Amino acid sequence: MIDTRSSFSLDGRVAVVTGGTRGLGEGFARALGGAGASVMLLGRDRARGEAVATELIGEGVDAAYLTADVTEPDEVTRALEETITRFGRCDILVNNAGACVHAPALDVTPEDWRKVMSVNLDAVWTCSQTFGRHFVEQRAGVIVNIGSMSGLIVNRPQWQPAYNASKAAVHHLTRSLAAEWGEFGVRVNALAPGYIKTDMSPVDEPRFRQNWIEDAPLRRYGTVEELAPAVVFLASDASSFITGSVLVADGGYTAF
Ligand code: NDP
Repeated sequence: MIDTRSSFSLDGRVAVVTGGTRGLGEGFARALGGAGASVMLLGRDRARGEAVATELIGEGVDAAYLTADVTEPDEVTRALEETITRFGRCDILVNNAGACVHAPALDVTPEDWRKVMSVNLDAVWTCSQTFGRHFVEQRAGVIVNIGSMSGLIVNRPQWQPAYNASKAAVHHLTRSLAAEWGEFGVRVNALAPGYIKTDMSPVDEPRFRQNWIEDAPLRRYGTVEELAPAVVFLASDASSFITGSVLVADGGYTAF
């Protein structure tokens, strides 16, 4: 028998989820907690973050919320320190926090470009380096970066050049870090979702129906609940021989 259940178990592990206050990050935190991990939620919306942490605790998960803007390196350093103080260790980082601006390339302002790059790419780098240093020192750790199918294809009908470029960079940063840190027992992978119903993706709007829904082989959008187990897979020993990969979860969208 292969002990499949225990390979997916995160009992005794401590996970940090950036942008854990809503949307996908909240779902990833719930799924990681459901698999046995203790969870530290990072974000800027204190009320929402504390509400999610309280709910998780009510469900038996050891959870906490910390206000941290991941675009601020000092706050990322403090987040690692607080996680170790609160939970005694840190094993998993999920780089989930993100932002998207829809605008044709000729209308993208320098502020829009910087806003998207600073959270989607610069912060992924800062968090990866900060937590990665700790993981390399302890000779164990897992990073899951939330990329996007937008790092593989160009979305329609909305134009979002900064977002697409940021996610392509996240995918290749994932491979770069995996290549460097594999020998130290640190795995780095990315999850590339398609359209998932959250504040960021207004999947119910009729103007998006043809391109977002009808063009996908499964002919529907995805839910947070069906995406979240993929993060458990990448964070757990179930994926112990996988590093430097980009796992696409898009209802088949990128097949065309
Ligand atoms: P939401 O807009 O619903 O949530 C974004 C999250 O990011 C919030 O929790 C927000 O927390 C957090 N966040 C943003 N900026 C910062 C910051 N500077 N510091 C800390 N936290 C921050 O987006 P989704 O849940 O949809 O997206 C989550 C990730 O998944 C993103 O990386 C996104 O690009 C990616 N993705 C989403 C897809 C989708 O269809 N939904 C498809 C493909 C990828 P707070 O408000 O508390 O600051």
